[in-house]
Amino acid sequence: MIQENIHKIQQTLPANVLLLAVSKTKPESDIMQAYEIGCRDFGENKVQEMVGKYEHLPKDIRWHLIGHLQTNKVKYIASFVSLIHSVDSLNLLETIDKEAKKHNRVIPCLLQFHIATEETKFGLSLDEAETIVASPEFKNLKNIEIRGVMGMASFTDNTEQVRKEFQHLKSIFDTLRTKYFPVDSFKEISMGMSEDYQIAVEEGSTIVRIGSSIFGARQYAV
Ligand SMILES: *Cc1c(COP(=O)(O)O)cnc(C)c1O
Repeated sequence: MIQENIHKIQQTLPANVLLLAVSKTKPESDIMQAYEIGCRDFGENKVQEMVGKYEHLPKDIRWHLIGHLQTNKVKYIASFVSLIHSVDSLNLLETIDKEAKKHNRVIPCLLQFHIATEETKFGLSLDEAETIVASPEFKNLKNIEIRGVMGMASFTDNTEQVRKEFQHLKSIFDTLRTKYFPVDSFKEISMGMSEDYQIAVEEGSTIVRIGSSIFGARQYAV
């Protein structure tokens, strides 16, 4: 089923959109089924779970951290994480930079934006992001690279609202690219999940984060 699900989703995605398989709460055997048909990008939202899977599974897997990240946990993933989607403060960026330096590498990051109506979702406003990237402290960070933006739309059946939220994230991306990151490496818009990824792709997504439509419903809410 997992392999069939991936094939079906891949057929609906343009070639330039990355399918990130969100494997949180799922066993390593599920990840290996996806791996066997060529998936190399997996998303996790808990540091400890990601570290365990990283240790056991093939080393050519690219691990994406998509959940809220506490500064005191950055050190556990700094040696291997491929992309951190959930950067929402200067303090976190400074910590990622410091830990990346210890491993003599540059860690790619996305700035997470709050685009949904729910108050519980993490993320920056455009104003807050501009304050960060315009600051002298930010300019000193040499071991992080901002590759783009990430956001989660509201949980709602109102597809027009979801579309507007994705358009908002795209406009944030365009503004940041024009004003602060006029470089080819600033190119990712991580938006779209199982229920709304088709809308996200229509609105310019470059990374869709899909869990339940690949691996089935999760056992417990996370
Ligand atoms: C769990 C999760 C997803 C995947 O959600 P599905 O609805 O199962 O596709 C995507 N993004 C984030 C940030 C998540 O936490």
